[in-house]
Amino acid sequence: MDPINPLEQALHAARARVLADLVAGQVAEADVVSLVEESIAQRRWWVEQWPDGVAFVAGLVAQDVQDALLERHGRWPLCPVCGSGDPHALDVEPELGPHPHWVCHKAGVKVASVGSLGSATGGMMSS
Ligand SMILES: [Zn+2]
Repeated sequence: MDPINPLEQALHAARARVLADLVAGQVAEADVVSLVEESIAQRRWWVEQWPDGVAFVAGLVAQDVQDALLERHGRWPLCPVCGSGDPHALDVEPELGPHPHWVCHKAGVKVASVGSLGSATGGMMSS
């Protein structure tokens, strides 16, 4: 085990970023955290097959967790930008690329980098 293995580093960073966004959305429950671990395990295999994909891991894990949550808990993360209308989820953009962001397609805005939703939602956890 090499502690500075770039794959493990990328997976660790992806896990931390997605967990931070889950905490920001107040959905970081034990079963949700296990969804993140499941995605990390799958993406580890995926990057081993395609090492060039290592930069895309954070965005992919975010999308995996979003899909898994949709089935079990509902939409995540809810858009913090649009104050009215139907609650809707943010999307990851680019779907396959480095530096993934959460975007609201309704308002057409970038909301935050994946991993920084907490600051975009005004630190609602700080009470
Ligand atoms: Zn919106």
